[in-house]
Formats: sequence, structure tokens, C-alpha cells
Amino acid sequence: MDIPCNEYELMVLKKVARAAAKVDLPCYLIGGFVRDKILGRPTKDADFVCVGNGMVLAQEAAQLFRPVPKVNFFKHFGTAQFRIADGFDLEFVGARKESYTPESRNPEVAPGTIEDDQNRRDFTINALAISLNSADYGRLVDPFNGVKDLERGIIKTPLDADTTFSDDPLRMMRAIRFAAQLGFMIESQTLAAISRNKERISIITQERITDELNKIVMSPKPSVGFDLLYKTGLLQLIFPQMVDLAGAAYIDGKGHKDNFYHTLQVLDNAAQRSDKLWLRWAAILHDIAKPATKRFEEGHGWTFHGHEVVGGRMVPKIFNKLRLPLGEPMKYVQKLVELHLRPISLTKEDITDSAMRRLLFDAGEDFEDLMILCESDITSKNKFKVKRYLENFNLVRKRCAEVEENDRVRNWQPPITGELIMQTFGIGPSRPVGDIKTAIREAILDGVIPNEYEAAFAFMLEKGRELNLQPVQ
Ligand code: ATP
Repeated sequence: MDIPCNEYELMVLKKVARAAAKVDLPCYLIGGFVRDKILGRPTKDADFVCVGNGMVLAQEAAQLFRPVPKVNFFKHFGTAQFRIADGFDLEFVGARKESYTPESRNPEVAPGTIEDDQNRRDFTINALAISLNSADYGRLVDPFNGVKDLERGIIKTPLDADTTFSDDPLRMMRAIRFAAQLGFMIESQTLAAISRNKERISIITQERITDELNKIVMSPKPSVGFDLLYKTGLLQLIFPQMVDLAGAAYIDGKGHKDNFYHTLQVLDNAAQRSDKLWLRWAAILHDIAKPATKRFEEGHGWTFHGHEVVGGRMVPKIFNKLRLPLGEPMKYVQKLVELHLRPISLTKEDITDSAMRRLLFDAGEDFEDLMILCESDITSKNKFKVKRYLENFNLVRKRCAEVEENDRVRNWQPPITGELIMQTFGIGPSRPVGDIKTAIREAILDGVIPNEYEAAFAFMLEKGRELNLQPVQ
């Protein structure tokens, strides 16, 4: 077949083929690169499999590039890799047979043929190989009709699905990830096997699971992946808090919406508006405390009072369990979860400037992302309501822009530091320092004093007097 590559890539393939001929090792381009080229998707690395020692081929191939790249050898895995251009990695491995033991996803490996190597691949669409050998250069080797599955948009294991998933349960996450990334269907036998083998996920490290989860979150329509995780029972095992959102309770004929599907819609909406991973996580977690705060109030219906606060407190625990980063990303998600109801409260009439100022101060540089989350949170099916809510949020944006223009409270530091308070009153670090600082900040946010040094200094002296503190000269 014509390999659907650009000139540069064709030149790379020719070089690898030349090296393979020189060391006399049959060689094939294989896996994700072939799949993505046929689909017309961007590619970042190319995998080569040879019948023999992949490290020997890598060493030989590297010599044909200028400057000669440094080859990284992974002796334990019998693989080698080098980078030839910004982000374009070539990876080499010897064809192998694999056999698994129940406790581990790391198989016993033995040298094998190209067929053996294709048999160990996870899905038919990932088992495609293209020959780089002079006898049949460019021939597509497709023993499992992978091209047909690419055309039909199907994820299917090449061999028995139960064995494939039981051997390496990470493949269950990968199947769902590819379905979400590519917009493909998982073939029914393959899907049923995921449900049957779901408990095997327990032998996979959290880091690997979360890596796949993040790829699902970053896919064009993440709900596809989460829905599959839910329906196969994997989500219950890897992220039970999210499953708790599912279902609607009824009392006196009154129900509430299914917060799981609501969350998925918010996530899809956020995904349409932003490529930021952590904004998408904020969408996933914005209502996470609804089950914990759910009450039925007589004459009122269902309420979820304080779910944003309780949700904010759940964020660190969930990040920790999922091994997501606990630094800035966690704080950002926590902040958005805590603040996600605030802009709605500002859509009412007669909202003061100080309420706007407070939101700008609390959201800081993440104000825009917060507004995106709030807009994504509109999931009404009533077009008129959606339009009205969006207009309301536009008004909040406009009012906030005006307040920001005047007061510059976004990313703002109050004009009086703790250091200055200590110097002025000749005191050390102590409670009054914090109290005065807070009082100044609150007075500025409430519009009691302007956001200026002079006014804040005078206010500090007044507060000091109230606390029986005298300025030192
Ligand atoms: P992406 O680059 O988007 O992660 P990919 O398919 O290229 O997708 P890699 O993890 O780079 O994923 O794997 C390269 C190839 O190795 C795959 O196309 C597949 O043939 C094979 N492979 C990867 N992981 C597994 C696995 N767990 N079981 C079987 N084969 C696998």
C-alpha cells in the first residue's frame, strides 16, 4: 500500500529500512503510527518491530541521521529509542511472544515472529504493520482485518477478548480510551469481556489507570468514555464517588435530576469550550458532594445545600486517591468547585459592586475559567432558558469587567503588608497583625475605603487604635 506519510516521514522509513537490510533483520512499522496515519490523525512517535534484536537495529538506524542521535537502550525490555526531531521519537523492539501469569500484567517474553508480535497487540486496529523489507516494501500486514475495523470504527481484540483483558487489564482502560478518542464503538464481545474482567483492574497501578483516565478526559467528547466506564462497571471500581452521583431519588412524586449524566453533559460542554485538563476535572467534580448533601425538605423538594463547600473538601482526597497532582492543579480545581455557584448568585438584580469585587478577588486569575465552568453547567433542554442564563452570565462578565477596570482586584495584593503593620506599631508576628490585615482587605473589598495606599494606611492606624496599639515614631 502507499504509506500515507509526508516526505520527511518517508525519508525516515527509508533510512530505517536501509539499516534493517544492513543488519539483515526483517523490519516492520507497527501499531499506533500506522493506525493514526490511515485515520489521518497527527502522530508523534513511530514503532518499529524487527525479527531479531531491536537494540541492534536502533543502533544501526541512528547512524543514518545527522546529527547522530543518542540512542536510549532499555535492556530489561529489549527496546531502544531515539529522537530525530522535536517530539518525533523512533522506538525499536524485537518481535516477541508473550505469556502471562495471573498476578502480573508483565508477561514472560520470548523472541518470536512478526505474527507472534501482532498476536500480542491489544486491538485489531493496533496490530497493523507495514513491511519495510526490500521484497515487499510498503505491504500492509493486516491479519485481523484492522483496516476494516478502522473504516467501520470498531475496537475489537485480535484474539479471545477475555484472555486479552485478563492478561493485561490495562487494555480495558485502553479500549475505552480509544473509543472516546477516536469516536469508535467497542465490539459487543469485547465490551462484554470488559464487564466480565473488570475486577482484574486491581492489578494495575493507579498511575497507569489515571493516565488513561486523563486521556479520556482530554478526548473530544469525554462522556463517551465515562459512560462506557460506568456501564462496564469499571468506574465503580476506580472512581466510586462519581458513580454515587448516578440515579434520581423520588419522594412524594418529586425527583431530582440524575447528577451523573448532568455531570457528563457539563464535562462535554466544558470540553467544547476549553482544552484545559484541570478545567475539565473541575467540571467532573463540581457537583461531587451532591449525594453527601442531599436532603428532602418538606414543601420544598430536594436541596443540596453547601455542596460546593463539601465538594471543595472532597477534592484533595479524590486527587490523592487518583494520584493526580496535589499542588497547583488541585488548588485550582478546589477553587473552581468552591466558587461554581457564585456567578449564578450574581445574576440577580441589585447586586452590589462589592459582591462583584469579592468574586474577582476570590477567583483571581481563574475568573475566566470559572465563568466557562458556569456556562458549561447550563444543561437545560429549554432553548429559551439556556439563552436567558447565558445572557445573565454575560451581564456578570460585563459588570465584573467594569469593577475590575476601576478597582483592579484580580490578582491583587492589599496595599498594606504584615511587615508594615509590625513596623508601624513596633510589634512582632501576632494575632493583631492578621486581624488588621484582614480588616483592611475586607474594607477594600466592601468598598468602605478605596484600593489605595493612603486610605489603607489611615484605616490601619484606626484599626490599631481600636486594638490599643500606638504607632512608633
Ligand atoms: P497513543 O500513542 O495514543 O497512546 P498508541 O496505540 O500508539 O496510542 P502506545 O502506548 O504508544 O499507544 O503503544 C504502541 C502500540 O503498542 C499500540 O498501538 C499497540 O499495538 C501496542 N500496545 C501498547 N500497549 C499495549 C497493551 N497494553 N497491550 C497490547 N498491546 C499494546
